[in-house]
Amino acid sequence: MDLTKADADAVKARHNDAAGRMEKLRGRNLSLDMTRGKPSPEQLNLSDDLLIAVQPGETDGEDGTDLRNYGGLAGIPEARRLFAEFLGTVPERIIVGGNSSLSMMWDVLSNAMSFGMPDGEGPWRDQGAKFICPVPGYDRHFAICERLGIEMITVEMTPDGPDMDTVRALVADDASVKGIWCVPKYSNPSGETYSDETVQALATMPTAASDFRIMWDNAYAVHHLGDGPASLSDIMKACEAAGHPNRAIVLGSTSKMTHAGAGVAMLASSPDNIKDHLDKIAYAMIGPDKVNQLRHVRFFKNMDGILAHMKKHAEIIAPKFAAVEEALEKNLGGSGLATWTKPDGGYFVSVDVLDGCASKVIARCADAGVKITPAGATYPYGKDPFDKNIRIAPTLPGIDEIKVAMTVLTAAIEEVCTQKLLDT
Ligand code: PLP
Repeated sequence: MDLTKADADAVKARHNDAAGRMEKLRGRNLSLDMTRGKPSPEQLNLSDDLLIAVQPGETDGEDGTDLRNYGGLAGIPEARRLFAEFLGTVPERIIVGGNSSLSMMWDVLSNAMSFGMPDGEGPWRDQGAKFICPVPGYDRHFAICERLGIEMITVEMTPDGPDMDTVRALVADDASVKGIWCVPKYSNPSGETYSDETVQALATMPTAASDFRIMWDNAYAVHHLGDGPASLSDIMKACEAAGHPNRAIVLGSTSKMTHAGAGVAMLASSPDNIKDHLDKIAYAMIGPDKVNQLRHVRFFKNMDGILAHMKKHAEIIAPKFAAVEEALEKNLGGSGLATWTKPDGGYFVSVDVLDGCASKVIARCADAGVKITPAGATYPYGKDPFDKNIRIAPTLPGIDEIKVAMTVLTAAIEEVCTQKLLDT
């Protein structure tokens, strides 16, 4: 029954029922955590052969370099070759770094704030830099901007990616709008993959800033849940064809492919941007962990190896996403109290409840021992203007825990949202 259209008695009955269930669930003293998109131990186990992939006496690279030593700032040739194919580019246009793409993003933007970017007019911090942030989005992208003093402008996501009419208008006349965050495939948290038209529009749109940058965080490039892969146009090629070769900075990592804390991260871009980035990071390090890069090359072998490995991840996590979907549909389907995404890949399910209810729902869950990502986390400055978005991260907990956590979450949504209907 659509409760938003039902009479007060029906809403009251559902509210009382949900409140009763919540009361019982609180009595169970649960302690469950659905907050962060981390791989489960079972997923991490899939890559444990990494730990034996390089043995004593096997630490020379293909060109004879002793990889235990300093140097090789751009990464080892065999890793640049493999991950260039992974990100759809050529080895000269990729830097393979340490274990975190997030830290590469931080490096790009903090250096841009201090020293500027190719094609630009000096440090961004002297120009009142602003960034476009599609919402809901990845909290750590927003945290980077907040920390660096880059003003964030929100733009709504659509099923095709960010609302491009708004983006075009924002970048057209204001030279202080320096860039946009994009998670183009299986977006965090709402799961969309950008359409070809969106990619084309991002590449071709005129921007007042001569050093406008697209931070193309392809964190979920091969993270299909079902039949996949969703197809995504090549942003670097599109930018180059449009006469903006330096516009796109593409990022990726193996964090959710191998060991999240001991993977390999990469940045791909134009020759100018690659040179600029290497010049900048040379002050912060002599070279990345090349032995770990070698481990990854030996472990995956080639792109087919990567895809076969990701199938094993999907086999583990797809049933968890199915359990989330089943609970949402069973308890909230047709109720009008919430809508949610059914992603084909990535790490999250995004739930929108009635306006003004998300923080109360999350507080009710916390009372019952279930931790959910704080309301507002998917918005700049932690403020969801409608207080409606809830991000669910189903990969880490076991399936039985997910089922219990979803019983709590859906009962809390029913309780809080029906209360809102009764109050208005
Ligand atoms: N980018 C996105 C969109 C993510 O969701 C995450 C992790 O959740 C990261 C980057 C972090 O990547 P890394 O581990 O390579 O720093």
